[in-house]
Amino acid sequence: MTTAIHDTQTRIREERSGESRNNGSQRRAAAAVPPSESPVVEGKSLYQNVTTQFNRAADLMRLDPDVRKILAQTKNELVVNFPVKMNNGHVEMFTGYRVQHNDALGPFKGGLRFHPDVRLDEVRALAAWMTWKCAVAGIPFGGAKGGIQMDPSRYSAPELERITRRFAYALGDNIGPEYDIPAPDVNTNAQIMAWILDTYASTVPPHERQRNIHVVTGKPIEAGGSVGRDKATGQGVVYTIQEWATDKGLSLEGMTFIVQGYGNVGSWAARLLTRLGARLIAVEDVTGGVRHPEGIDPEDLLRYARVHGGVFRYPRGEFVDHIMFMQTPADIFIPAAMENQITGQTAPWLNVRLVAEGANGPTDPDADEVLRNRGIDLIPDILCNSGGVIVSYFEWLQNKRSEFWDIEEVDAKLHKRITTAYRKVRDKAVELDTDWRTAAYVIALTRLETVYKERGIFP
Ligand code: NAD
Repeated sequence: MTTAIHDTQTRIREERSGESRNNGSQRRAAAAVPPSESPVVEGKSLYQNVTTQFNRAADLMRLDPDVRKILAQTKNELVVNFPVKMNNGHVEMFTGYRVQHNDALGPFKGGLRFHPDVRLDEVRALAAWMTWKCAVAGIPFGGAKGGIQMDPSRYSAPELERITRRFAYALGDNIGPEYDIPAPDVNTNAQIMAWILDTYASTVPPHERQRNIHVVTGKPIEAGGSVGRDKATGQGVVYTIQEWATDKGLSLEGMTFIVQGYGNVGSWAARLLTRLGARLIAVEDVTGGVRHPEGIDPEDLLRYARVHGGVFRYPRGEFVDHIMFMQTPADIFIPAAMENQITGQTAPWLNVRLVAEGANGPTDPDADEVLRNRGIDLIPDILCNSGGVIVSYFEWLQNKRSEFWDIEEVDAKLHKRITTAYRKVRDKAVELDTDWRTAAYVIALTRLETVYKERGIFP
C-alpha cells in the first residue's frame, strides 16, 4: 500500500479517458512529474498568505531550520483529469486535486471542495491550514485538502454522483482510512461523502470492504456518520465566541452579529449563537446580502435560502450590497464563506469588536495588521473552525471502535477540546506578546517540531 507517492515531494497523476482500472499498489499515484520548484506561486497567492503567517511564527519561536524547510513545502500533490458522461450522452473532462501537506502527526485529513475557483495554489494553502489546525486541536491527524474545479449547480444529481464517483476512483489508494481521510467542505456534503465511501469500498478487494467505513468523515448518520458532525464547525465557532465573551466579561445576550456565507458553517453558527441570545442583523452569501437591525430569524432565513438558492431578496430585511454588508456595525463578524474576504482594502470597513473566522483563510496578512492596529479581536481559523475536524476525528474513532456516541457526549468532548485549545492560544499570545494567529501557529509548530526531533528524518 505504501508506495512511491509517500517518498516524493510532488507527483501529478493524469487519468486519461479509456484508461483501465488501477489495482493493488498501482492504485496510488501513477505517472510522476518533476516536483514544483516551490509551492509559492507568483503574484498574491493564497499559499503566500500561509507562508507569511508561517514565517512570522517560525521567526518568533526560532523554529528549527530543518523542520522549517520540511513544513514550508507540501508533501504530495495529485492532479487528476478525468472524463464523465453527461446526461446528454457527451463526455466532459474535469480536473480534481488532492494535496497532502504533512502527516507527521497522523493520517492526512481535510475536506473536498467543488468550486470553479479550485486550483492548486488554493488547495496547497488549505492543506497547510489543516496541518496547523489539527496540531492546535491536539488531534492525531496531518493536513490535506482537495476538490474539483467546477460549478456543481450546473449539474443534475445523477451527473454530480457520477462526477464524485469518478473522482474518488481517480484518487484510488491516494486516500484511505488510515492514510488520507476526506470530509465535506464548500459545496460538498454528507451525500457526496456517502458516494465516495461506496466507490472506495466497491473498488478494494472484497475482504477489505467492511473495514473502510472511516475512509471519509462527515457521512450521513445511517452510513456511519457521527451525530453532531453536521453542526460541528458552527458549534465550535460558537464555543470559541462564548469563551471570548467570558474572557471579556461580556454577555452574548443582546449582542449583534453578522455572517458572511450561509451554508453549513454560517447557518449553524447563526442558529446556535441566536439560541444564546445574540441577534443576527446581516447576512451575505454568493447571491447577495440582507440586513435587519431588529434581527433576522436564522431558521426562517435558512428555509428561504434552501428554496431560493440563497439569501437574495429575503423579504424580511432590506437588500445590502457587499460594502454595506461589510460596514454594518455589530459586535461580531463571522466570515463563513471563502478566503481573502478581509483584505487591506476591506478591513477598514469593518465596524465590529471581534472577527471569528468560520471560513479558512478569510483574512489576508495585510488585513491582519489593520485589525491589530484597530484593536479588533480575532479568533483565527485554525482555532475557530476546528470543531469540524475535531468531530470528524470523533467520527473516525467511533467507526474504528464500532461505537455510536450520543449528541451529549459529542458536544461535551468537542467543548472540552476546543476550549482547551482556545485557552492555550490565548495564554500563548500573552506569553509571547503577539497576536492570536501567530500564537496558534507557534503552538502548532512547536508540536510538529517536537515530533520531528523525536522521530528524526528517515533514513
Ligand atoms: P457551504 O458550501 O456549505 O457554504 C458556503 C457559503 O458561502 C454559501 O452560502 C455561499 O453562497 C457562500 N459564498 C460563496 N462565495 C461567496 C462570496 N464570494 N461572497 C459571499 N458568500 C459566498 O460551505 P461551508 O462548508 O459552510 O464552508 C464555508 C467555509 O468554512 C469555507 O472556507 C470552508 O473551508 C470552511 N470550513 C468548513 C468546514 C465544514 O465542516 N464544512 C470546516 C472548517 C472550515
